[in-house]
This record gives sequence, structure tokens and C-alpha cells, in this order.
Amino acid sequence: MAFLDKVSDLGKSAMKKAGEGVEAGKIALKINEEKGKIKDTEIELGKYIYSQYLNGAEFDATAKEMCVKMKDMYENIEELQKQREEVGKDEAAPTMQASSVAAEAGKFCPNCGAKQSGESKFCASCGGKLEG
Ligand SMILES: [Zn+2]
Repeated sequence: MAFLDKVSDLGKSAMKKAGEGVEAGKIALKINEEKGKIKDTEIELGKYIYSQYLNGAEFDATAKEMCVKMKDMYENIEELQKQREEVGKDEAAPTMQASSVAAEAGKFCPNCGAKQSGESKFCASCGGKLEG
């Protein structure tokens, strides 16, 4: 009888342990959820501070420094977007021209620009693969 009691005790403690494992997992999940919420809120807080800074609010040196950095980054993006538009303009025109010329007078190698005659899939000049 004593032996059987011991077995059933072991069984109970094993069950209890497994249950604790599930419980610990649930708690860990909740901790992660809270951490995620904190991160989101930190971002929101940062955005709020930055918008206040843009509206002329005064902050301590550390917060101000971060806001200045943020403003620089936004300005960089604006500058890069302008550059992209400029590059886009420059690239669009010659590509259209080149393709209409190519349609009229055969293919050109995209690699070296050599004019291609015939239906070869590789450039006669550099051996590069031809489009189409
Ligand atoms: Zn070529």
C-alpha cells in the first residue's frame, strides 16, 4: 500500500509540474504582451514629444538632441525623395528613346551597348546576355 501511495504521489507531483509549466508559459506570454505594449507606447511617446518639439515646446537637452536628430532624418528623407525624382526624370527619357531606336534598328547589348544583328541571345561584342 505504501508503495502505491508513493506512485500516486509521484504522479500527482508530475501533473502539478506540467500544470506549472503551462502556467509559467502563460505568464511569460503575458509578460511579452506587456513588453510589446510598452514598446508601442514608447514609440507613441516619442512621436508625441517630437510633435511637441515641432510646435515649439521646450525640452531638456537630451530630449531636444533626439528631436533635432529626428528632424535631420526627416529632412534627409525629403532630400533623398527629391533626388529620386530627379534620377527618375533622367532615366525615363533615354530608356524610352533607346528602346524605340532598338525597335527600329535591331537590338543593343544592355551590357556594353554594342549594336546586335541577328537573333543571337548573346552579345557578339562582350558575350553578355541580351534581353528578350
Ligand atoms: Zn555587349
